[in-house]
Amino acid sequence: METIHNWRDKLNASLERLELDQDRRHELRQVMESGLEVMERLRQELEQCRQHSRLLEQVLESTSEGIAVSDAKGDIEMCNAAFCSITGHEADTVRGQALKGLNNHHDADSVYQRIFKALDDTGIWGGEVVHKRPDGHEFHQWLSVARMGGGDGRLVWALRDISAIKNSEEKITYLAYHDALTGLPNRRLLSDRLEVAIATASRKNQRLALLFLDLDNFKHVNDGLGHAAGDDLLRETARRLEGRVRDEDTVARLGGDEFVMLLLGIQEPEYAAVVAQRVLDCLAKPFVLRDHELFLSASIGITLFPDDGRDAETLMANADMAMYRAKGAGRNNYKLFTPELNDKVQRRMALEGALRSAIDNQEFLVHYQPKVELDQGRVVGVEALVRWQRPELGLISPGEFIPLAEDTGQIVPIGQWVLEQACRQTKAWHDRGNDGLAVSVNLSPRQFQQKDLVPMVAETLGRTGLDPTCLELEVTESMVMDSVDEAIVTLEELHRLGVQLSMDDFGKGYSNLYYLKRFPMNTLKIDRSFVQDVAVDSDDASIVDTIINMSRGLRLKVIAEGVENREQLSFLRERRCDQIQGFLFSRPLPDDELFNLLASGLRLQ
Ligand code: C2E
Ligand code: MG
Ligand code: MG
Repeated sequence: METIHNWRDKLNASLERLELDQDRRHELRQVMESGLEVMERLRQELEQCRQHSRLLEQVLESTSEGIAVSDAKGDIEMCNAAFCSITGHEADTVRGQALKGLNNHHDADSVYQRIFKALDDTGIWGGEVVHKRPDGHEFHQWLSVARMGGGDGRLVWALRDISAIKNSEEKITYLAYHDALTGLPNRRLLSDRLEVAIATASRKNQRLALLFLDLDNFKHVNDGLGHAAGDDLLRETARRLEGRVRDEDTVARLGGDEFVMLLLGIQEPEYAAVVAQRVLDCLAKPFVLRDHELFLSASIGITLFPDDGRDAETLMANADMAMYRAKGAGRNNYKLFTPELNDKVQRRMALEGALRSAIDNQEFLVHYQPKVELDQGRVVGVEALVRWQRPELGLISPGEFIPLAEDTGQIVPIGQWVLEQACRQTKAWHDRGNDGLAVSVNLSPRQFQQKDLVPMVAETLGRTGLDPTCLELEVTESMVMDSVDEAIVTLEELHRLGVQLSMDDFGKGYSNLYYLKRFPMNTLKIDRSFVQDVAVDSDDASIVDTIINMSRGLRLKVIAEGVENREQLSFLRERRCDQIQGFLFSRPLPDDELFNLLASGLRLQ
């Protein structure tokens, strides 16, 4: 390239060749000199520009930020290496493409629509975008876009991979809400969840339980085996506790050897006690730590929302206090915050335990109460009524344990046993000269819902050899009204076995005539409560009267239960009730006494 010096020399030589006077020559030389000066400045500026551009290119290539320039529509004209590596595309495939075409994320279209809307409005946009590379890898990027110049100016896109920041943010949040040792929620997350749970429970009218658990003698483990062993023990405890609750419940560690369990949507206070007992049982299994076998126990305090308190603070304080009571009561147990509730639950739990072993220990027996037809006063059937013979406590009536057995499901095996017993016994009475004697057995709601009820009844009849027409099953209205269509199917199947069906305690429930007509019933049994005052209360008298008439209309047999005196009897006789059952004729009797009664031929006068 020719330099300014060459130019000057050439111009001077040309100038010498011109025939000019001194002044003119001088003037031209000055013009020439200032022209050369401008040239020199331009040259220097050009050189500087070149340097800047080279520098810019270097900066662009060495920066970790991905940068691209696109036309106004977003089609990329140029980009740096970082842009390619961040988006996961090659430089030559990027050029001419719109940025949204480079992002495989399913949301990309709507995101870029929003970006262009903002660019139209304000000329700039910045925000987080989830980017999916062609290889399927997804990550968070921070994208800023600016339009250069006016409405159709080029766009500069700058993007940064922020997944590392996001991950560490998530990690920080996780650590802020979890216990580092066990990974369980910590106090902070527990109180958040408790607040939410309280709000939800009060809206839905539900109950919550908060269980505060403190390990007994944990300090000895720490002191004796060292802190590392103590840590292992806490981790194992956390794992066991988590295994005892449902997914929606929370197990948290407050610190040290203190844990809290938050149980949602519990129906009965007993459930909390059941969980507490399960926790104690699972902690009672040996812990194996660094070749040592350890036995651990805990003390648990239970409080209930809304029974014991309506806010998080009160509930936490209650549970804590109840836990101290459990410790005071000798450790390795649980206590409910409210003493009355505590007594009730403990009694019920004890009864439940006793009931469970009662089945195994065969502590049940069946008494039979005669049913008498009113025409001749003859015994035509008996009702089988279960009794629980508790060692040292004597006979317990079904009113005390049937509801519990129903709740716990124990009624199913108990009911099955009663049915078997009643069928076998009645068959034996038939064989001893009382053929035709019918036996009624009560079904419980839970039993009625069992899928295998019908085959179970059929098998029992087959096994015991009892004529199916001599078996009557008593159901109640509430049992069959829960889901009428299913109930009809079950009742019809039972009916097809040849079994008689009776509606027990009639009048106490819905007394829905429409449904009654659809059920394949044989007998209505008037509830004891109406029979009781039938002779003295005109309302009860007309109810009983109506039920008797209605039964006749529906061609059902009708029986009055709980008949205790002559006045009731004469009322029922007058109204032509078919049968009666009650203390007036006989109380429920053990099988041998009932046999003697049958053998005596006793009749109702
Ligand atoms: P339920 O089926 O209505 O049985 C009649 C109840 O009335 C019996 O009480 C019987 O002893 C009592 N009773 C009979 N006559 C009189 C009377 O003249 N006066 C009075 N005050 N009471 C009388 P129990 O044996 O205590 O049974 C109570 C309830 O327990 C039964 O009512 C029945 O619902 C249920 N139950 C009894 N045994 C079983 C069973 O094996 N399975 C099921 N699921 N429930 C049973
Ligand atoms: Mg009954
Ligand atoms: Mg009854």
